[in-house]
Amino acid sequence: QKCLSLIKKTKYLNAYITVTEEVALKQAEESEKRYKNGQSLGVLDGIPIAIKDNFSTSGIETTCASNMLKGYVPPYNATVVQKLLDQGALLMGKTNLDEFAMGSGSTDSVFGPVKNPWSYSKQYRERRRQKPHGENEDSNWVITGGSSGGSAAAVSAFTCFAALGSDTGGSTRNPAALCGLVGVKPSYGLVSRHGLIPLVNSMDAPGILTRYVDDAAVVLGMLAGHDPKDSTTVQDPVKPFTLPSLTDVSKLCIGIPKKEYLVPELSSEVRSLWSKAADLFESEGAKVVEVSLPHISYSIVCYHVLCTSEVASNMARFDGLQYGHRCDIDVSTEAMYAATRREGFNEVVRGRILSGNFFLLKENYENYFIKAQKVRRLIANDFVNVFNSGVDVLLTPTTLSAAVPYLEFIKEDNRTRSAQDDIFTQAVNMAGLPAVNIPVALSNQGLPIGLQFIGRAFCDQQLLTIAKWFE
Ligand code: GLN
Repeated sequence: QKCLSLIKKTKYLNAYITVTEEVALKQAEESEKRYKNGQSLGVLDGIPIAIKDNFSTSGIETTCASNMLKGYVPPYNATVVQKLLDQGALLMGKTNLDEFAMGSGSTDSVFGPVKNPWSYSKQYRERRRQKPHGENEDSNWVITGGSSGGSAAAVSAFTCFAALGSDTGGSTRNPAALCGLVGVKPSYGLVSRHGLIPLVNSMDAPGILTRYVDDAAVVLGMLAGHDPKDSTTVQDPVKPFTLPSLTDVSKLCIGIPKKEYLVPELSSEVRSLWSKAADLFESEGAKVVEVSLPHISYSIVCYHVLCTSEVASNMARFDGLQYGHRCDIDVSTEAMYAATRREGFNEVVRGRILSGNFFLLKENYENYFIKAQKVRRLIANDFVNVFNSGVDVLLTPTTLSAAVPYLEFIKEDNRTRSAQDDIFTQAVNMAGLPAVNIPVALSNQGLPIGLQFIGRAFCDQQLLTIAKWFE
C-alpha cells in the first residue's frame, strides 16, 4: 500500500508507463494468506518489484515506450518475470525507457522523459534554487540516465524494492549510477533473455536495480540458470547466491585500465572518486595494478555497427501485421509496411534501422559487419588477457559525470556525447562479462556518482562479493 501511494505521489517522475495496482494488491493478499496459514514462502514473497516495459508480461500491456507496441498485450511472461512471480514477488507496474531501449537518458520515450528523483533532493534544490518537492514546472531537473531510467527512478523513489532493467551497452548500470543505486549486468548466458524484447541479441542481458548489493544478489541468484527457451543460457546448475562477508581483501588484485579509461571528457569529480576507491583497496592490502585494454578505443564504433545491424534485422518483425500498430494505408502491402514503421518508430529507431541495413548491404557486409565482429573479438580478448594475468576485478568509472539537466542533455551536440558516455560500459556487453555499478558519493551539486566493477565471465558471485565489501 505504501509503495502504491508513493507511485501516485511521484507520478511527476514519469517512472511508470503502466501501474498494475490491482495485480499487486491481489498478489499481496495471496501472499499474506500464505504467511498466515504458515505455508512455505517464496524468496520474494510480498516484495514489491517493478519491470522495465520491454519484458513481456502476460495480460499486461508491453509497449517498449513506442507507438509501435502501444496496446500490445503479450500472451506469455518473460522467463525472468515468471521466476519473480513464482517466488511471490508483487508486480507494481511496467517502467518507462528509451524507445526499444535505444538511448542513455530515458528521454526518448513516446510517454515522455523520466525525471531523476534526485532533482528534488534538498541538497540539489538548494544548489540550483529549485522549487519544492513535486513542483516540477522548473527546468532544472536532471535525467535518470538510461535506458532503464524508469526502473531506476522507481527504486530510487522507494516505490519498489527492486526493478528489472535491461543492459545491452550499459542501460542498467548507467541509470543506477545517476540515481544512486546498485545496478547489476550479469554474465551473458547466466540469465534468460526469453521474453525480453531484443535490442542486440548477442549483447542483451536482463539487469537488476536495487539499493544494496545483497538485495541484487538475492534476485540474481533466483533468476540465474538454464532456460530451455533461451539456447544461450548455460547448462550448469546455478546455486542460489548468498554473498559471504569479505573481511580481508589483501589477496585480491584490482585492475585499473587507466590508459584507456582516463578520457578527457571524464569529470574531475568522478576521476577523483575513482582514484580514491583504488587507494582504499590499496590501503586495505589489495594489489592494485594498472592494466591496458588496447582495443577499447574502437568499442563505441564497433558497438554502433553491430548494434544497428542486429537492430535492422530484429525490427523487421514490426511490420504492422503481427503486433501492435498498423496504419490506415491500404494501397499496397509495401506502402502499409512503410507507413506503419514511419508512424510506429521514433527517429532514433528509424536511424538505426537505416544504418544497420547499410552495414548489411552485400557490398558493405565484409567491410563493416564482419570487420566489427573481428574487432569485437579483440576487445573481448583484451579482458581475457587482463584476467589471465591474475586480476580479479576491474575498477572503472560508470559514467563520465553525475546526471546532467534534461535541457542540456537534449541539445543536439550532446547526442554524440551521449554515445561517448557508454565508453565504460559497452565493451563489457561485447565481451559478455558481469559488471555492477556501486553508488559511491554525491557530487558537489548533490547528485549521485557511481563506480563500476567488471568481473570474469560467470564469476558474478565473486564480483558481487567484492562489490559488497566496497559498498
Ligand atoms: N546507450 C546504448 C544504446 O543506445 C545502450 C543501450 C542499452 O544498454 N539498452 O544502444
